Amino acid sequence: MAPRRNLPDAIQHQVRQRAAELCEYCHTTEQWQYILFTIDHIVPISHGGTDDPENLALACFHCNRRKSNQLTANDPQTNETVPLFNPRLQPWSEHFIWSSNGLQIVGLTPTGRATIACLDLNRDRVILLRAADTLVNRHPPEGDPIQKPK
Ligand SMILES: [Zn+2]
Repeated sequence: MAPRRNLPDAIQHQVRQRAAELCEYCHTTEQWQYILFTIDHIVPISHGGTDDPENLALACFHCNRRKSNQLTANDPQTNETVPLFNPRLQPWSEHFIWSSNGLQIVGLTPTGRATIACLDLNRDRVILLRAADTLVNRHPPEGDPIQKPK
């Protein structure tokens, strides 16, 4: 494993502001966490990715750890290998939508479904957080698409 390099504070600040303090994958807000989120290299350093802000995303520890150095994942619906979601190139709302109760992220595309599965975006603990945040009207994040109730 390559030695961990720290990004300059100004770049970390820029990434955090641009993400509106949301994990750019699971859309958990950093605001009420007791620890700051991490900066993800969308294309990992090990695959030739750089520290250019266009290759960086704000990611919670869980999403960053699950993503690891992967670029692709399996779409559970088609069983095809597809690129993981890229928050710099793709709008979140084109690939994901909240279930009508706001607790689950639903994939709209092969990339959306593969990213949900690979990063485990509907893990039990984050669903509990979403449920608690819904009760105090701070979830889902403002502007995110939500499925209509059936
Ligand atoms: Zn996350």
